[in-house]
Amino acid sequence: MPFQLSAKSRERLKGVHPDLRRVVERAIELTTVDFVVTQGNRTQDEQDELYAQGRTKPGKKVTWTRNSRHIGGFAVDVAPWVCGGIEWDDDGRIGVWPRIAEAFKAAAAELGVPIKWGGDWLKTKDRPHFELPADRYPA
Ligand SMILES: [Zn+2]
Repeated sequence: MPFQLSAKSRERLKGVHPDLRRVVERAIELTTVDFVVTQGNRTQDEQDELYAQGRTKPGKKVTWTRNSRHIGGFAVDVAPWVCGGIEWDDDGRIGVWPRIAEAFKAAAAELGVPIKWGGDWLKTKDRPHFELPADRYPA
């Protein structure tokens, strides 16, 4: 069951580093769970705006940093797409994240592109987040 990136997902890959874009494009071919791209490149202004949310502006905190790898297009966020909608599966009951991460890691290995998955972070897990490592891809 090969999946395809939606037009919206493709649109959100604009400005993302070509190596990471290739990983996403290959991951959608390998994955056993469909996904959509929810975020790609951000400007510093956009990141500052997000950082203000839940701090100096109303809303829920959505980021903990002003130095996101999204700035300059070194990171993407994705979301599992299940039964016609986004399924965050925060409690891991459905088990969609490991399958998506597996597809990304397989795609990256195949293409020889190093990636890091936010779901592997020890403290605050960020499962939607995949990024190119800063030591290999400096901002
Ligand atoms: Zn992210």
